[in-house]
Amino acid sequence: MNLAKHLLDIELSAKILRHAVPKMSELDIPVTPDNYSVWYEYFLGINLDLKRAIDEYIAKDTTFTDEVNAALVKRFILENSPNVIENVHVETQLVINNLLEKVSQMNSGTANLTETLSEFHQELKQTYDVDVLYKLVDTLVDEMGSVISDNNQMEESLSSMSDEICSLKAEMENLNIVAQTDQLTSLFNRRAFEDEIQSHMQHYNQNHCASCLLVVDIDHFKVFNDTHGHLVGDKVLAYVALALKKTVKGTDFVARYGGEEFVVLLPNTKLNDALVVAEILRKTIADKKLTIGKEDKHSLGSITVSVGVSTLHDSDDRESYFIRADEALYRAKSSGRNCTCSE
Ligand code: GH3
Ligand code: MG
Ligand code: MG
Repeated sequence: MNLAKHLLDIELSAKILRHAVPKMSELDIPVTPDNYSVWYEYFLGINLDLKRAIDEYIAKDTTFTDEVNAALVKRFILENSPNVIENVHVETQLVINNLLEKVSQMNSGTANLTETLSEFHQELKQTYDVDVLYKLVDTLVDEMGSVISDNNQMEESLSSMSDEICSLKAEMENLNIVAQTDQLTSLFNRRAFEDEIQSHMQHYNQNHCASCLLVVDIDHFKVFNDTHGHLVGDKVLAYVALALKKTVKGTDFVARYGGEEFVVLLPNTKLNDALVVAEILRKTIADKKLTIGKEDKHSLGSITVSVGVSTLHDSDDRESYFIRADEALYRAKSSGRNCTCSE
């Protein structure tokens, strides 16, 4: 039986491969080119002697040991087809089929290889010359090399893509910081405060730890601006911001709510303790003698703030929580300013 003749039909080869390989693994037979030659012939079904011999083994539940396999190869392949080329042929065939399967699992950059492999199929049909076969395999190796390098390039472009995504993410985070920062004072802005108060309320709903809010407003700031000018007023706003930030703990949240109004969120703080914090803030600002100019210092006197304090209730939403602090602030203003009132 000339194995080569049957290899002429690639479709048939592929069909046999699909049957032979699973059967071989079911019977624990290593898929070597030699063993494959036997099972190729078996599924081809033309070599009746070989088929009968194997069917007998299967019927008797014979284990296909290395010895049994080697005997089958010797009797039905080597002795019948002494030309080694046919085994090389089968091997190449196997490699190509294997590669084709793997290549079909890859997504891109492999169009060339698929084409080359198909061409190999065609050439293989006509070639039984060892030198030509080796050349074919050589080309195949080259082609694989270029696929690997293509894939490396793909990996490179993937990793440069992920670099781009990372810097994009960093830029977005940066944008987010900018969007949440007040330019004049570098404090968080009102938008950030709205987010933060929401997460404070969530934290409260989970832990029921006391939480407080201070609303801080500069007293008679319009007059101050009118006296010293808007630019000096801006510097004072920055100073108050820094004083607030420096006085509270790291876990507390300070933001510029707008104009000359600031808010401070104090997590895990009872109302009485919040009042103490508010008084420290108020006094720190009131006690400071403001000056302007480096060498030629010019006194600005001092400024004061009024503070309203609320503590979070179970029934609160953002508005009600804020409104109570704002109402307390209003009371502090009407009580003469430079003081703290609570809800
Ligand atoms: P009150 O004690 O009742 O709070 O009096 P007030 O003058 O501080 O309050 P009012 O709301 O009448 O005026 C607030 C002033 O704050 C008006 C404005 O000139 C000043 N202001 C608001 N935003 C800025 C700012 O960004 N820069 C400067 N320099 N001033 C600001
Ligand atoms: Mg004011
Ligand atoms: Mg105000």
